[in-house]
Amino acid sequence: MLEISQRLLLEIHSYFSNSYYESGGLIGSKEVDVIDSFYYDKGKEERRNEYIPNVDVLQHQLSIWNKEHIEFRGIIHSHLRCGELSQVDVNMARRVLGLNNIHSILMPIYIINKQIIIWHEVHIDNIILRVPNTTKPGGKRYERE
Ligand SMILES: [Zn+2]
Repeated sequence: MLEISQRLLLEIHSYFSNSYYESGGLIGSKEVDVIDSFYYDKGKEERRNEYIPNVDVLQHQLSIWNKEHIEFRGIIHSHLRCGELSQVDVNMARRVLGLNNIHSILMPIYIINKQIIIWHEVHIDNIILRVPNTTKPGGKRYERE
């Protein structure tokens, strides 16, 4: 069962609710099946039809996570009103699967109009909803890396 702390969830909400749609970020796990790491990326600003990651910046962050034993779990990004992944999003996710030789990736979408997150998980041959349990604030303490 996947988990995320209330604290990190609030942090993610505060980043995305105050930024342009089609911004994004990395999510990761230090503890198995606990989403405990988040790195915000406002994306490249030339286009706003889709999230265009700052690949160099994210790769640098992933190398830091690697040293800290934080496992890359996925990419979150924001849409104005639609909770579905676009074909471009799915293609990007599957490219990442291939490059990293992993079998699934979390691709949550933060919907700015509704201020909610839709938790998609992309596999090679399908896409499922994978909603993490939220751990209570103070129940367990997580630090943002
Ligand atoms: Zn998208």
